[in-house]
Amino acid sequence: MTPAEKRLKRRIAEEGSIGVADYMAEANAHYYAGRDPLGVDGDFTTAPEISQMFGELIGIWLADLWTRAGRPARARYVELGPGRGTLAEDALRAMRGAGLEPTLELVETSPMLRRAQADRLAAPRWHDAVATLPEDGPLLIVANEFFDALPVHQFDGDGVELRVTLQNDRFVRDPAEPVTERSPASIAVLRDLARRLKAQGGVALIVDYGHDRPGIGDTLQAVSCHRYADPWQAPGSRDLTAHVDFSALAEAAQAEGVRPFGPVGQGDWLEAMGIQLRAASLAKAAPERTEEIAAARDRLTAHSQMGRLFRVLALAAPGWPEPAGF
Ligand code: SAH
Repeated sequence: MTPAEKRLKRRIAEEGSIGVADYMAEANAHYYAGRDPLGVDGDFTTAPEISQMFGELIGIWLADLWTRAGRPARARYVELGPGRGTLAEDALRAMRGAGLEPTLELVETSPMLRRAQADRLAAPRWHDAVATLPEDGPLLIVANEFFDALPVHQFDGDGVELRVTLQNDRFVRDPAEPVTERSPASIAVLRDLARRLKAQGGVALIVDYGHDRPGIGDTLQAVSCHRYADPWQAPGSRDLTAHVDFSALAEAAQAEGVRPFGPVGQGDWLEAMGIQLRAASLAKAAPERTEEIAAARDRLTAHSQMGRLFRVLALAAPGWPEPAGF
């Protein structure tokens, strides 16, 4: 039994039942704390682990906005859930090429992944939450596959919240069909970010799988060793995620006075940012890797792969220029 399973069982024994969001939060806190889930030997692979092009194009996107904003001083690169630090490393290299050298602020709760990030990145500062980010200097915020890990509440057709109980020592969710999901945890993070953008200037890029409109039903899923798994078994040992409700994030940004752009498909966004040119120049520098580079480009952009399911949402502070790619 995983420690998360033990704790959840104790809580349900004491409280009778718990909400789906509590179950997900407890499971994921344990899941991320003790492992590096990324890569072929892990549970899932993310865009920055597929190719350096992903982080580089994000770095170029940030540098372009910063340049057009007049190259303000004390810029902060902020990443939420930076995983192994691969995206940050690639983005920072591209930003340096454009004369942008921001401080490095990582919002990461996992001790294990903090260590992986420390191996890769020079002088990062870690934060448990958005609240402790520096209060001066514009923020250049990136979040790839972060919001999908935050807990969601699920509701049936009558708006009743679904709960998790134990039957014969196994976790079961209320039998009603979930028709709505809401993630107040995601909205709270987004509102914090938007308030910071409004006060300090800057932009944000949020990339994740999800939908452009709310009310999509049950998207809670578990992934283990690159396969879908049962979310109600072995909590804490598999990654629990839900699709991100991009309309709710965009609305929350707008409510705080920050302009949302998109969401657009990841494939379209990467094409607009010049992934074809970048792939061609990488292949020219390493002809023996031509096929591998083309395969990575297709994996990131093809509609049948990550290109359409993954959405890209940008936020821009008042007075900041319109971002490229939307
Ligand atoms: N962005 C990386 C990793 C995605 S996995 C990539 O694309 O490869 C999700 C990341 O979010 C991990 O780094 C995980 O530790 C972090 N994370 C999950 N829940 C979190 C929370 N509540 N607060 C801060 N970080 C969290």
